[in-house]
Amino acid sequence: MIMQFETLALHAGQEPEAATGAVTTPVFQVSTFAQDGIGQPRGYEYARTGNPTRTALETALAALEGGAHGLAFASGLAATQAVFQTLRPGDHVLAGDDLYGGTYRLLEQVMRPWGLQVDYVPVGETAAFAAAWRPATRLLWVESPTNPLLRLADIEALARLARARGARLAVDNTFASPWLQRPLERGAHLVVHSTTKYIGGHSDLVGGAVVTSEADWASQLRFLQNAIGAIPGPWDCWLALRGHKTVAVRVERQTQTADWQAGRLAAHPAVEQVFYPGLKAHPQYELARRQMRAPGAMLSFALRGGFPAVERFVGALELVLLAESLGGVESLICYPPRMTHAALPPAERHRRGITDNLLRLSVGLEHAEDLWHDLEQALEGGSP
Ligand SMILES: *Cc1c(COP(=O)(O)O)cnc(C)c1O
Repeated sequence: MIMQFETLALHAGQEPEAATGAVTTPVFQVSTFAQDGIGQPRGYEYARTGNPTRTALETALAALEGGAHGLAFASGLAATQAVFQTLRPGDHVLAGDDLYGGTYRLLEQVMRPWGLQVDYVPVGETAAFAAAWRPATRLLWVESPTNPLLRLADIEALARLARARGARLAVDNTFASPWLQRPLERGAHLVVHSTTKYIGGHSDLVGGAVVTSEADWASQLRFLQNAIGAIPGPWDCWLALRGHKTVAVRVERQTQTADWQAGRLAAHPAVEQVFYPGLKAHPQYELARRQMRAPGAMLSFALRGGFPAVERFVGALELVLLAESLGGVESLICYPPRMTHAALPPAERHRRGITDNLLRLSVGLEHAEDLWHDLEQALEGGSP
């Protein structure tokens, strides 16, 4: 039976449990599994290597991204590191230049000393990737939409380039969620998620995942998952499973609300610029329509009046919480220069367009009008 996204989210990998018929996958809080005889395990041996709760999550995530193999990790960065670790010292990575700060730190302070070569390329300019190509280039790494400037990578074009030159394309799909964008269907070789964000969806866990249909890459990653051991525990797998069942309905509503806030913010005199792929003024509006189901629930905006205006605005918010992270049911605002992107040296940050008056908003499930009232009163200096 061919099933649609919403149905897969509930049923892929989540058959009733064999022994009791429990409808939800149980939390297998266990470290080891009794074997019927030497060399006769019943499918599981030791829980770093595999745990049924994790298997359910991995199967479900693979189905949502339309991939053959899913692997869960302890965090989004652990998943990202495992992917880089499949390369060899001396190999070259071409990364998009608007990246999660932790991914940049991982590349610069962990993988570069290990021997990986890295260059950063404007993520929306496919030709720039071709121009920066080296004989040792093995991997293209992009986020789309990017964090925090909501730029897009043309996934189909980059996948074509990678395939033509014998390299692979990996997409960090965290900002979109599989509901809005399915990179594997557009030719990407691998997708990474911080399940901490939209897949978990409730700001109650840290986790990561990789999905790919490349069998050899998947077995290399499976080896590293076990050999390095950055695995999620059964409770976090269970929470991620519980969260991902509703990703479609959450992200659909959150996107509607975000779209509405983006239009209002863009029209407000205190706002200098709004970065949101659903606005016609966004330079990649057409690309967003082509490769995403909808423009998503993340937006950034720059305030007139520089950092003092940012401080006043954030201090005046009553509903929206100032916090790192995104993708939860409650709206969160963050100040990238000092929070998510603090790992970037100031010169590098400015070069990438992350200005001192930039805020990033993750739109939650509050009523759209309540949310706007809070943003509007804070833009106007706060309640008296
Ligand atoms: C949060 C995030 C990560 C890192 O994930 P963790 O779960 O925090 O390790 C990677 N990429 C993007 C786009 C993120 O937002």
